[in-house]
Amino acid sequence: MTESPQLPRLSIASLGGTVSMQVDTVDGGVTPTLDCEKQLSLLPALRQMAHLEVATLGMLPSASLGFVTLLEVLAWARGQVERGAQAVMLTQGTDTLEETAYFFDLLWPFDAPLVLTGAMRSASQPGCDGPANLLAAAQVALAQASQGRGVLVVINDQIHSAAKVRKVASLAMSAFESPGSGPVGEVVEGVARYHLQPSPREVLPLPHRLDHRVALLEACLDADTALLQALPALGYEGLVIAGFGAGHVSGAWSEMLGQLTPGLPAIMATRTGRGPTALATYGFVGGEIDLQKKGLHMAGQLCPRKCRVLLWLLIGSGRQALLPTWLPR
Ligand code: ASP
Repeated sequence: MTESPQLPRLSIASLGGTVSMQVDTVDGGVTPTLDCEKQLSLLPALRQMAHLEVATLGMLPSASLGFVTLLEVLAWARGQVERGAQAVMLTQGTDTLEETAYFFDLLWPFDAPLVLTGAMRSASQPGCDGPANLLAAAQVALAQASQGRGVLVVINDQIHSAAKVRKVASLAMSAFESPGSGPVGEVVEGVARYHLQPSPREVLPLPHRLDHRVALLEACLDADTALLQALPALGYEGLVIAGFGAGHVSGAWSEMLGQLTPGLPAIMATRTGRGPTALATYGFVGGEIDLQKKGLHMAGQLCPRKCRVLLWLLIGSGRQALLPTWLPR
């Protein structure tokens, strides 16, 4: 069949995840088996909407993706836009979607949208959501209103910004939220409807180093400081703490952090899942005023996992000194 020359060009790649999974007859559980063409086979309507360029770049559960793989995927996606794609879509597992979306967003230099989606139910389950999410993601990707918004996550008919979206439930269909702000838009009857205008974006250069590591530790009741203390000797070059409440740790952790931070860029985030870290409320040892004096950077609205992505990319391009300007209040 010859495709109409007027159709826009949409590039779609799959990386794996539940959206690509089916029951494995040997072990009974679902595993990644559907390549990108097979995922799209239930959606013939897509080929009426756009000239598709389709690629299978991985068949992994998203827990096994890594930064180096993501840079390869990004190179593929950038190449698609440079060769004339109007938009790019990626399908992947939902478990790390909040991190990969932010990773790509920090590096995505185009007005053309990069839209990520996945599924909560595998292709073997009744009511599987993969095809509906793929269709909604394509509708968003091709919408003029999606230009200039960086990387978007489209799932369950909601459109989320990469910096805000989080997986907040393990198995529910409504597993994704943007705590505090809500989604930036919705897909209604196949149309992308945005609640907000796009805001100006800044992107980072590609990292020139890939060998550095950033640790993420969660503060918890009665935790000792052995792991913190071990970080420099283990070769970690950055640290993110998912702190208590508004970005706090125990007195003992505060003291240890004070010893670490002269040589180790460190971000204090909140483990609560909603709301920003404080700046000027609590005066106790381990509170945000004390921690800032010790050189920690308060994460603001950014969740701990996204903080780690940010710090890894900043260190990778030698820009860790710019960290405070990248932490949204
Ligand atoms: N449960 C995950 C998903 O929704 C598995 C993964 O992230 O690969 O895709």
